[in-house]
Amino acid sequence: MESMKINWIAGVLTFLYLVPAILCWGQHGHYATCKIAEEYHTEAAKAAVKESAKGELAAVCSWPDLPEIRKGYPWSSALHYTNTPDFICKFDYCRDCHDSANQKNRCVIGAMYNYTIQLESAYHNYGTQKKYNLTEALMFLSHFAGDVHQPLHVGFIGDLGGNTINVYWYNQSTNLHHVWDTAIIDSGLERFYDSNLTTMIGTILRNITDDWSNETKFWEKCNHTVCPIPYASESISLACKYAYRNATPGSHLNAI
Ligand SMILES: [Zn+2]
Repeated sequence: MESMKINWIAGVLTFLYLVPAILCWGQHGHYATCKIAEEYHTEAAKAAVKESAKGELAAVCSWPDLPEIRKGYPWSSALHYTNTPDFICKFDYCRDCHDSANQKNRCVIGAMYNYTIQLESAYHNYGTQKKYNLTEALMFLSHFAGDVHQPLHVGFIGDLGGNTINVYWYNQSTNLHHVWDTAIIDSGLERFYDSNLTTMIGTILRNITDDWSNETKFWEKCNHTVCPIPYASESISLACKYAYRNATPGSHLNAI
């Protein structure tokens, strides 16, 4: 029974990260990330998620972004992202994982460790199961696994991950962070998938077993229950390579 419980955690966590880092995470992004993760859950993981998330994991993956949750859990805002110093394209946990008051470990990576520990310890010890809210822990962890893969959730501190860089997406005024959180994915959905999210998710799932199959070994590589640091490193690298490239204030960006 114990190994079954550990299995579900490993299953949930491992396959939450089987997601290409190029995607970005507004509401559609979070739903897609968790829907893909669901496809890889073991039977034990499915049962545990059904119990903890009261049904479909994907349906609650945007929960930490709900206005009432942001308002009711103000301490959680700093946990959605991390920043590197300006123009530094490498993530360093000790240097970068803190909130604006410099409190250590309060960033998306620290939060992923924290909620993983809560979920894992709850299944080692019944006492901690009562101590922690496992439903919230699962929803936070699932959400943050999506956030860390959006390149500008590991952006530069000076522009708040692109939030202060005002740009145009086609002719619409927005900011660079929003382009990568939402606009790219929504435009891609409309343009390539006839606004059908299920079709897009199906294509990604096929790519995981087909075109990207060589990469999945790297995505799964982890000697612990959770290994989020490589994902943050990959995100800031992609942010430097793609998101910040030619994205000066006032610039017009589009899908080509
Ligand atoms: Zn978030």
